[in-house]
Amino acid sequence: LKGINEILTEQRLILGKYCSQLESAISEYAGVPHAITCANGTDALILSLMALGIKSGDEVITTPYTFFSTASSIALLNARPVFVDVEAENLNINPALIERAITPKTKAIVVVHLFGKLCDMDAVCKIAEKHGLPVVEDMAQSLGSKKEGRMSGSFGDIAAVSFYPTKNLGGIGEGGMVLTKRDDLGDRVRKLRVHGMDNNPYHHEM
Ligand SMILES: *Cc1c(COP(=O)(O)O)cnc(C)c1O
Repeated sequence: LKGINEILTEQRLILGKYCSQLESAISEYAGVPHAITCANGTDALILSLMALGIKSGDEVITTPYTFFSTASSIALLNARPVFVDVEAENLNINPALIERAITPKTKAIVVVHLFGKLCDMDAVCKIAEKHGLPVVEDMAQSLGSKKEGRMSGSFGDIAAVSFYPTKNLGGIGEGGMVLTKRDDLGDRVRKLRVHGMDNNPYHHEM
């Protein structure tokens, strides 16, 4: 309450110093150099796909068993979600079925670590690398999940976090974050989250 009072008194309500502190803390925790807060997990997915240049007519491979916005974020960019079925054991995308869904229009693979269980990222990343496709991790339900010391969000090119109150780290209201190890994507998301603005106020580069 003391912290909230400080924020209300200071009136720096958007992207203030506590946002920066959260970005640094999660960046360190997940072992990913760029952590960029945004409005919610859905925006984190949309920003990730925009940063990757997903556009009208593109196909994006993903899982049908997830929260609605994994697929709707793809559709909102006028791209087509291409569903690949899940594995019976962990209910996440089945890597063995991904390759046959790849076409010349495929531009990315969005995996979901559902219920905190990580996908088989070794297998997914191998296929992605072979076909030159970026991997997006929808980690709305897996902040803190890890395998052999590697944290959720550190496997693919870019990842989306949600701080919706029911998620692993719930906020008082909505919140989200993009994680990426790629400098180019980090730069783009930092601009895209403020309407494409660069460091000059009201200069919208994108
Ligand atoms: C909650 C959730 C989202 C969306 O996050 P919001 O912060 O509610 O927009 C996306 N994907 C999955 C798997 C989720 O569970």
